[in-house]
Parts: sequence; structure tokens; C-alpha cells
Amino acid sequence: MNAPLELPPTALGPVARAGARGQSRLNVSFEFSPPKTEEAEESLWQAIRRLEPLNPEFVSVTYGAGGSTRERTHRTVVRMIHETSLRPAAHLTCVEASRADVDEVVQAYWDSGIRHIVALRGDPPGQIGGAYVPRTDGYLNGTELTAGIKAIAPFEVSVSLYPQIHPESPSIAHDIDVLKAKVDAGATRAITQFFFDVDGFLRFTDQVRKAGIDIPICAGIMPVTNFKGLRRMAEPCGIDIPFWLGNLFDGLDKDPDTRRLIACSVAAETCARLEEEGFTDFHFYTLNRADLVYAICRVLGVREAAGAQGVPS
Ligand code: FAD
Repeated sequence: MNAPLELPPTALGPVARAGARGQSRLNVSFEFSPPKTEEAEESLWQAIRRLEPLNPEFVSVTYGAGGSTRERTHRTVVRMIHETSLRPAAHLTCVEASRADVDEVVQAYWDSGIRHIVALRGDPPGQIGGAYVPRTDGYLNGTELTAGIKAIAPFEVSVSLYPQIHPESPSIAHDIDVLKAKVDAGATRAITQFFFDVDGFLRFTDQVRKAGIDIPICAGIMPVTNFKGLRRMAEPCGIDIPFWLGNLFDGLDKDPDTRRLIACSVAAETCARLEEEGFTDFHFYTLNRADLVYAICRVLGVREAAGAQGVPS
């Protein structure tokens, strides 16, 4: 690694300054979805293999709405345990399931060697942002689920956090109280929803810290390549899309290559800026692809251990 360049910090942007700092000790984690087809499984595993040498703190596998991916999520995390050096976390929701159903999934994770769960309430199937109707015999929310998981076995439990507050929440103060309740129930890490307003994110996390919550907060980073898809996804989740992001993607509907380059530079700049503000934990929504996330990790100075092969032959 070259010695850091002696340049005045203001002469460079956050990405170049990150390059000047060189190798870093950040904690990164990668989120994947369970594949639906054999072809998707093949490309998921290519992505996993490409990112594995970066030695992430953990990797996680999502849980489909209403438990629709129960088997596939389980199969994917178990394969990670058997075939990689990764530390996988399984997402779990309580939507449309009784406590007994959920407890059975939790116990099966433990018996398969999984030690980390991302505990979520989940959304009503097919309607993010719609009214959530809990089952009378089910867990009510992420707080109850966290306590339920901890009552079964000493799992590491990560929970959600919303920099622009959860759409059902009345206020930031309420969301912070909810996070406190989850920590009291045994949560040891918060992973944030993705966001684009870095200043707003910094103000929000400052409030979380001022409330005395000191668990690690992983900044959720979504490298956006499909701007139209982002609009559809972000609106019901209450995530603001800044006008400048729209400008960057304007006219590129038929140009996926350029969109990918822009996605990478926006996400890299977000991360590099957060690192300068003291953030050390980044959770990447990979969408089961490695290339953008790999490039962003390079920018942040997250590298393979010496001798490890990063680029597939
Ligand atoms: P909760 O934190 O449980 O909040 C839901 C509601 O309950 C809120 O109104 C909250 O205010 C209230 N509440 C919670 N605890 C308390 C309490 N102690 N006291 C009073 N009120 C309380 N969805 C999936 O289906 N599968 C996934 O794999 C998945 N992964 C995700 C990963 C991350 C990092 C994030 C941020 C979200 C993920 N989601 C996933 C989406 C998530 O399921 C939805 O955002 C859902 O609407 C809320 O789930 P939650 O656990 O954040 O809710």
C-alpha cells in the first residue's frame, strides 16, 4: 500500500480522500436474497464467492414476504455455513405466522448452526405500506420477535432502523424508543433502511446516540442502478429521492452500463463521506450482484487478505 498522499484535504473529493487514506478497517456486511431459479442460484453464488475474500463482518439472506422464502432462505444460509468462511445471518419476519411457527424456524436455524438472525416484523404480503394486521397468536412486532428469539437460544440479533422513520411511526422519538426497546429485548446491532440524504442520516444517528443507544449502527447502502424501480420501492417505504439523483439518471433508461457507473459513484461517495464522519459499519444491499459493491469496498480501502484472490479467473 502506498503512503497516503500529502494533499490538502479540500483539494479532493471524499472518494479520492478515501483512496489517499488507503487500506481501512471498516466493517462491511452484504445482504443477498434467496434465489428462485437454478440460474439465479448460480449467479448468487458467483457474487458470494467474489465478495467472500473481503472478509465481511457478516452476510445476510432475506426472508420473503409472509415467509414465502422460508425453505430457500434456510437452504442458502446453511450452504454458506458449509461451503464458505462467511458468518451468515438469516432474516426472519413474523408476518402471517403463529409464534409456534416462528419458533420452529428459529430452532431449526440454531440446530443448523446459524447464530445470527435479523429480526423483523415484516410487511403485509403484496402491499408495503398497507395496514399491518398482526395474528392474535403471533409476534406483534420486531421487539417481541427479538425477545422470542433470545428466549430460544443465545443468538446474535440485528434489527431494523429507519433514518427517515418507519412509515407507520408517528415520530423520530417513537422510532428511537422502539430501538431502545429492541436493545432491551436483546438486539445487538441495528441495520438501517437505505437512504440518500447523508446529512439527514447524520442528524438522525446523532439523535440515536444522544438517547444513549450505543449498539453498532450499520448504514444500509443501496447502489441504485434502476431509477424507475427505485421510485416504486422507495415511495411506500417513505424514503425521499433527491432531485439530483433523478437528474443523474435522466435519459438513461436504455443505457444500463452508464446507470451502473453512476450507481457506483453515488454509493461510493456516500460511503466515503460517512467514513469521514466516523462511520465504520456499512451494510450493502447487493441485489445478488458483486461488481458494484466490490468496487465501493475498494474505494473504502476494504481489501482481500494478502494472497486471497479477488478477481475470478
Ligand atoms: P418494527 O420495528 O417491529 O416496527 C413495526 C411497527 O411496530 C412500527 O409502527 C413500530 O413503531 C411498532 N413497534 C415495534 N416495536 C414496538 C415497541 N416496542 N413499542 C411500541 N411500538 C413498537 N422485510 C421482509 O419481509 N423480509 C426481509 O428480509 C426484510 N429485511 C429487512 C432488512 C432491513 C435492514 C430493513 C430496514 C427492513 C427489512 N424488511 C424486510 C422490511 C421490514 O419488514 C418492513 O420495513 C416492516 O414494515 C417493518 O419491520 P420492522 O421489523 O422494521 O418493524
